[in-house]
Amino acid sequence: MRRLAEAWDRGEIGPTAFLPAPGRIGLASLSADLGVRAESVSFLACGALRPVLDRYFAACRVHLAERHWDLGVCPFCGAPPGFGDLTDTGQRRLACHVCGGGWVFPRLRCPFCGAQSAKDLVRLEAEEKEEGYFISACRQCRVYVKELDRRIRWNAGSALVEDWGSPHFDMVALREGYRRPIASLIQLARRP
Ligand SMILES: [Zn+2]
Ligand SMILES: [Zn+2]
Repeated sequence: MRRLAEAWDRGEIGPTAFLPAPGRIGLASLSADLGVRAESVSFLACGALRPVLDRYFAACRVHLAERHWDLGVCPFCGAPPGFGDLTDTGQRRLACHVCGGGWVFPRLRCPFCGAQSAKDLVRLEAEEKEEGYFISACRQCRVYVKELDRRIRWNAGSALVEDWGSPHFDMVALREGYRRPIASLIQLARRP
């Protein structure tokens, strides 16, 4: 982090270094040259860019019509989803932690690789089940996303708050060998 701060102070990197890119968050050189872990880069992107990007995209959010975007990356900033919500109408809405955007996505499709086969899509179970919360994982790409059924948990917090507040589900998924593209708090606590 010190090397990152020094590069920032010298003007070698700026906010754009943390923007999403295909397959990752931020410039690859942040990890390669400065030794910053990918998890830390994604956390910094969410923490630092989101307030700015949320305002930046505010005026164009309304133009995203339902079902007009069926990719597994945020239609606004290009980041992978950080959380999933089942809404009142039973739609699956993926949430972007980097810019605060969201988009409707098919329930029976992996957002990360597009797998749609029932044998590839699994729900991982925590030892202590909490009604409304579930972990959607994909056997093809080995990526997972936590989700929340808001018809059951109508008074739950925002997607980011729910995500950061449920590290025990990340433990379950990570232990079973799945990963997530946007780091969870528990991955930040882990020593490299
Ligand atoms: Zn976004
Ligand atoms: Zn997949």
